[in-house]
Amino acid sequence: MCFRPPNVSKPTRCSCGTLNPPSAPKCRKCGAPLAAAEIETFTCPRCGTQSPVTAAACGNCGLTAEEAAAYKNPED
Ligand SMILES: [Zn+2]
Ligand SMILES: [Zn+2]
Repeated sequence: MCFRPPNVSKPTRCSCGTLNPPSAPKCRKCGAPLAAAEIETFTCPRCGTQSPVTAAACGNCGLTAEEAAAYKNPED
């Protein structure tokens, strides 16, 4: 009924409001890059903040993606 594949192709809406094909790297109207709209995020294991993987560090506490991967149980 509500089956939705995780990678379903949906139009990407630019910040200008234009709908672009999912594969379009740029808005066809204003030319703004669209990749940022679907940027991958990681959740900081220390503070729980979601940050783009490209940020390389938590935007809240500064934990790096590398540290986040190694960060498991602080009590260990
Ligand atoms: Zn646009
Ligand atoms: Zn954090």
